[in-house]
Order: sequence, then structure tokens, then C-alpha cells
Amino acid sequence: MPAIDVKTLLIITAALALLFTGMFSVGWRRERTGDLLAWSLANALVVPGTVLLALRGVAPDWVSIWAGNGLLAISFGLTLAGAVLFEGGRPRIATVAGGAVLWSAACLSPVFLTDFSARVTLLSTIGALYGAAIAGVLWRGRHGLRLPSRGLAVATVGIGAALHGGRAVATPLMPVPHDFAAVNASWLATIGIFGLLLSVASSHFLHALANERASERHRRVAEVDHLTGAATRRVFETRVAALLAQAPERGALLFFDIDRFKAINDTHGHAVGDRVLATFAQVVREAIEPGDVLARWGGEEFVLFLAEHDFVSGHRVAEAIRRGFSERAVDGTGARLGVTVSVGLAAPALAGPDLARLVASADAAVYAAKRAGRDRVETTMAIDAAA
Ligand code: GH3
Ligand code: MG
Ligand code: MG
Repeated sequence: MPAIDVKTLLIITAALALLFTGMFSVGWRRERTGDLLAWSLANALVVPGTVLLALRGVAPDWVSIWAGNGLLAISFGLTLAGAVLFEGGRPRIATVAGGAVLWSAACLSPVFLTDFSARVTLLSTIGALYGAAIAGVLWRGRHGLRLPSRGLAVATVGIGAALHGGRAVATPLMPVPHDFAAVNASWLATIGIFGLLLSVASSHFLHALANERASERHRRVAEVDHLTGAATRRVFETRVAALLAQAPERGALLFFDIDRFKAINDTHGHAVGDRVLATFAQVVREAIEPGDVLARWGGEEFVLFLAEHDFVSGHRVAEAIRRGFSERAVDGTGARLGVTVSVGLAAPALAGPDLARLVASADAAVYAAKRAGRDRVETTMAIDAAA
């Protein structure tokens, strides 16, 4: 095997850890999440940790061995804490410090301190256990946010853990004499290169996960109304225009305006008003199919596009929602508020596939419903169809 200068490898590791400290701390300054802070600190500790290892022979042995490897063990613990925080859990102090405590306890033994193979085996075991735990935490989180880099993060951390595990098993079987020239020419140095590449890849994908989570959150803020969980108007316009382009004659559009909503706010307060809006969206969600699009148009007005319905069946859904809502809205004590909704109906088969025209038609129908006494479904389709 070609000789690899282990001290050079350690200095390169320190430089890359410094780079990742910067990357994670820039992310942390932007997002202020505990995981990014933990990952930033984990990389920051690798810098003095590897520099101390490289100073073997210059610094006192116990500093280089105990503190250098101890810092690496805490770094593993912080990386695991970051993964736990990333998945919404609360890391325990024992999880973070366990590896370092184990390492320090072993270093109390002078026999261990002078046994190179034993040291490599223990640190590799600690690295393998932490790596497996980190990969496990990220893998279990796969049912939460769908993040494109999750699989690669799990794979690189997992392979890194396997490498540590392999080294822990192989070191006692293929001992390497402890002098730098021998280590440089040994399989341990070659494996060290792969370990470095894997830790670079892992850090990259952990960073990518944090970025993907941030953009997923921003996307949700732009696309989902926080109070009701309904889509925003922009999403409605994009999705429904696409549906109409695919099937210009299919679907039904409902425009909802809650009746005398201002009076609910004035009588019961805004919090009850907010809950009524959320209840309305819930009633609609229970009445629709996955392909339908519900959006909050603004204030107490909602629009719903029923993708697989026509005028007649759309009218039935509108009636069901109207009735369901008047039974469901309650005040803070659970007493029925008697709040109702007026609904305007328009269908592309009659009014044409132009979305703005459909919405205008359904909106005009809502006004007709209000004039006719509220709590009803109206349509201006006859007028539109004749026009
Ligand atoms: P109408 O039957 O004619 O529709 O009467 P209305 O009182 O529902 O109509 P109006 O447009 O006068 O009042 C709408 C009210 O909706 C006024 C506004 O304060 C309230 N509102 C708009 N957005 C929100 C919100 O997010 N939360 C709460 N609680 N109230 C809201
Ligand atoms: Mg209104
Ligand atoms: Mg209203």
C-alpha cells in the first residue's frame, strides 16, 4: 500500500472540519435551530481534536491521546444530538457525553494509554455506535418531511459507521506497530482516507437536509394558509388552471362566504371567529376527494374546485358542506353558534374553462345567495349559459 502521511491527513481533516463549522454556523445564524448549532459545534470540536492528534510527539502524550480523541468522541455525540433535534426529539446529556466519558474512563488505565491497538479499537467502536445511532434516527424520520437528501445522509453516515465497525474488529486481528512510519504504510492509513471522504460526504448531506427542510418550510408558508390549512390563492390559481387545461369541461367551482361573520367576531371575539374558519375548512376537507383544491380566497371567503364533479354533483357537495357547517360551528363552551355559509356555484362545462370568469361567476352567485336570505347555494349558470 502506498504510504499516506497520517499527520497530513489529520491537518486536512481539521481544515475541512473548519469549513463545515462555517457552513453549519451560517445555517444556524439564519434558521436558529438547535440541530444546526449542534452540528456546527460538532465540527468545531474536530478542529482542536485532530490538531492535538497531529501534535503527537510534540504535545505531552496524555494531552494528544486523551484530549484529542476525547474531543472527537464529544463531536460524535453532538452530531447524534443534532440528528435527534432535527427529528424533533430532545437529546439527553448522556447521549452526547457517553462516548467521551467511556474514552476518559479507559484513559485512566496506563496499560490502555500505551496500547495503540486498544485505543484504535475503542475509538472506532465509539464511532461505529454513534454512526449507527445517527443513521437510525435519520432513517426513522423518513415518514416526516420528505427530503431528497435523507437517503444519502443515512447511507453515508451508515457506511461510515460500518467502516468504524470494521476497523474496530480488524485492529486487534491485524495490529499495526505504533510508530508513524509503520502507521503511514499500513491499512489503517488507507482506511483513514475513506473515513475522511465519508465524513465529508455525511456533513454535506446533513447540511443539505437542513437546507431542504428550510425550503420546505418556506414553501409551506407560501402555499398553505396557516390558520385553516387550506391552500393559498396563488396555489389554487396554478393548480386549477392546470386541471382546466387538461379537462376544460370537467369540474365544478364553489365560492363560499361565511354569513354575518363580522357579528361572530364582534359577539364572541376573534379567537372564536378564527376557530370557525378552521372548522369550516375541516368540514370541507371531510367532504372532498384528494384531487380537489380548497383555498382561502381571503378573510372569510373560500374557493373549492371539485375536479371530478359537474354542475349537478357539485351542487350536491355544496349542499352537504352548507348543511354540515351549520351543524358544526360552536363557541368556546361547545354551544352551537348557528353560523351559516352562502355558496356560489359555477361549472366550466357551462361557463367555459377560463378560471377568472368561473370565479367571477361563482362570486356573483354568492351575492345572489346573500340577497336571497343567506345559508343557501346559488348559481348564475343560467345567465352564463345563455350569454
Ligand atoms: P355577510 O353575511 O354579508 O358576508 O357578512 P359578513 O359579516 O360575513 O361580511 P363582512 O365582509 O362585512 O365581514 C367579514 C369579516 O371577516 C370582517 C373581518 O373582521 C373578518 N375576518 C377576516 N379575516 C379574518 C380572520 O382571519 N379571523 C377572524 N376572526 N376574522 C376575520
Ligand atoms: Mg366576505
Ligand atoms: Mg361573509
